[in-house]
Amino acid sequence: MVNRSQLNEYLKKICGAAIVTPCVAALVIALQYLGIFQVLEWAVLDRFFRQRPQEPPDSRIVLITIDDDDLTELGQWPISDRGLADLIQKIQRDRPVVIGLDLYRDLPVEPGSEELVEVIKSTPNLIGVQKRVETQVKPHPTLAQLNRLALADLVLDGDGKIRRGLISVQTSLNSPVELSLGAKLALMYLRERGIEAEYIDPKRQHIILGKAKFSPLLQYDGSYVRVDNGGYQILLNFRGVQNNFQTVSLSDVLSDRVPEGTFRDRAILIGSVAISLKDMYPTPYSKSFSNERDLTPGVVIHANLTSQIVDAALGHRPLFQVLPDPLEWLYVLVWSGIGTGFYFLVIETKSLKKVSRKVVLSTGLIVLSLGTLGSGYLAFLAGWWIPSITPLFALIGSAIASAVKRSQKLQRLASLDNLTQVANRGTFDKFLLQAWERNINLQQNLSLIFCDVDCFKLYNDNYGHQAGDRCLQQVAKAMCNSVRMTDLVARYGGEEFVVILPKAQIDQAVRIAERIQSNVQALQIPHTYTKAKSEYVTLSCGVASVNAKSDDLSPKELIERADRALYQAKEEGRDRAIAYTPKPPSD
Ligand code: GH3
Ligand code: MG
Ligand code: MG
Repeated sequence: MVNRSQLNEYLKKICGAAIVTPCVAALVIALQYLGIFQVLEWAVLDRFFRQRPQEPPDSRIVLITIDDDDLTELGQWPISDRGLADLIQKIQRDRPVVIGLDLYRDLPVEPGSEELVEVIKSTPNLIGVQKRVETQVKPHPTLAQLNRLALADLVLDGDGKIRRGLISVQTSLNSPVELSLGAKLALMYLRERGIEAEYIDPKRQHIILGKAKFSPLLQYDGSYVRVDNGGYQILLNFRGVQNNFQTVSLSDVLSDRVPEGTFRDRAILIGSVAISLKDMYPTPYSKSFSNERDLTPGVVIHANLTSQIVDAALGHRPLFQVLPDPLEWLYVLVWSGIGTGFYFLVIETKSLKKVSRKVVLSTGLIVLSLGTLGSGYLAFLAGWWIPSITPLFALIGSAIASAVKRSQKLQRLASLDNLTQVANRGTFDKFLLQAWERNINLQQNLSLIFCDVDCFKLYNDNYGHQAGDRCLQQVAKAMCNSVRMTDLVARYGGEEFVVILPKAQIDQAVRIAERIQSNVQALQIPHTYTKAKSEYVTLSCGVASVNAKSDDLSPKELIERADRALYQAKEEGRDRAIAYTPKPPSD
């Protein structure tokens, strides 16, 4: 059976936990908003991408890649306009849905520039690129005339990696919305299947496309903090690297080594994967930034965006989603609560010994930490980017904060007197020594008041021991209310209290002793059996002071002087404060 005081104690602990949990959660969320965890969250997300089981290649997309072997076989770069015209015609013969040319072609490369112009004109499903954001690269003039352009721009995170996909850009209010290459190819591919984009909330730019609803990335989405979300961006739900797409080399197409039907009804992307052409970027799949083989070619990133949009519109693969901020905070709060709750549970399990408690605590916290990451990974597999590092810090932080709070409480309990809740004898001894040292250093005064409840034995005998306890509690409280913040009230023993008054001279200390006395009197605790001239509980006080400049005294001697003054106060009839005066030397 749990009794009332145990229940009270338990409720107090629960209240303590109830304070720690939201405080730690709020602190961690504030740190997250300062961007402290952003890089770590990115690192975890990248790890999730690399960890995710490989998905089969997207059968709707074919990449025509230009690698270093192709460059050797061509014997020149850029490929001539004639070569390019030949390539486009060979692809077009197989009737693809759309061809995206991810090669900058702002200047003619003879021979064959007129042939290329003709081929461009006769290939209505050919889309070329230009670069518009920051550095600009102009498109092929014929493609520009025919308005068959898309943007090759990519958006990089603060650490230089690509995790966001650019859908469109509108450079000024009155200029047309320009689609990125990945988005344009996806929309053209879907249009062939009768799926068109439809604005459902033009103000917030919410778009329905087939079975998917698109919303632009916001500045604080996922674990981003004040991200530059210019244009229309979404989180990239990468299908993978080059291996996750069907690829055909440029040389194979030019030499007719590609089986018929390879491009039929598909979206085709032509781009460079040659390391020497340097169209490579770090993505979540790149473990190192310096190793070029670890980077992802731009054309593969465009293909990922096309694949993601088409998949989402057809309902095959979800878009990446993020929790609204309040839900994210709630999620962090829950993990903070788990941290506090777990600590509380282990500490309250009395059957655990001290050592095994530490083992259970540390292993439990490791398992729970893996739980935060595991939950993040499961959510990721379901198409959600939820924070992993923030809840991890909330979990560990709340467990640590609970431990610190508990140890402070134990320390406080060890330094206080159980009954009166003022400092105990041990604390008094320590405080006096510290104050003494400081007093010597500063060459100041230090005073001490010794207080004793008058005729307390008679009080106990007549009102009972429990009433005596309550009386001591009230007296202690009244004493604390009578002194300065820098003073210390301690229970010296029994019904004797002592006050240390740093920087106080003797007359100041006597005034404080008298204030203590009158505050105790004011409690009006009836004591009709006292020998003092009062019907209430009273105190006798002895005051002593030391001047670091002139007196050569030990702390023990100061206490003895105050005690002697107290004895004198008792002798003179109690209920008074007397300052120590040295006995005149006897003749
Ligand atoms: P005087 O005025 O000379 O100081 O007389 P006194 O009776 O106060 O002094 P004495 O030292 O004879 O008695 C002190 C009493 O204080 C005896 C003891 O029972 C009582 N006492 C000491 N500690 C406690 C306590 O924690 N609770 C209660 N209720 N009484 C206590
Ligand atoms: Mg006494
Ligand atoms: Mg007494």
